Amino acid sequence: MPDVQYRDFVIHFDAPPIPVRCCDWHFYHKDYDGPEDNRHGDGPSLEDCKAQIDDWWLGQPCLTGTELKAQSERCACRGSDDYCLCGSVPDKATLDLRRASEITGRAR
Ligand SMILES: [Zn+2]
Repeated sequence: MPDVQYRDFVIHFDAPPIPVRCCDWHFYHKDYDGPEDNRHGDGPSLEDCKAQIDDWWLGQPCLTGTELKAQSERCACRGSDDYCLCGSVPDKATLDLRRASEITGRAR
C-alpha cells in the first residue's frame, strides 16, 4: 500500500503487532514538526483518517492564495485594507467552498 497524499497530508498504512485494528492508519502534515505539532493522528481506516484531516482543515483560519484572492474580490475593501478580515479569516463563501470540495474529495 503506497502512501496516500490527501490535502497537505500524507496517510500511510502500518499495522502495529497488536490485536486491535484501531490505529493501523497514520497521517501527518507535510510540514509536521514534532510531537508539539497537532497535525498528525491515527485511525482505523483510510476514510477515518481523511475525515479527521477534513475536520482539521475546515477549522483552519488560514486562507490559501486562491481563497485570499477570491475573498478580497468579494469584499468592499477589494483587498486593499491590510487590517480587513477578508485578508485573514475565511468568510462564509470560502467555508461553503471548502465543504463543497470536501464532498467532491470524498466522492473520488
Ligand atoms: Zn476586505
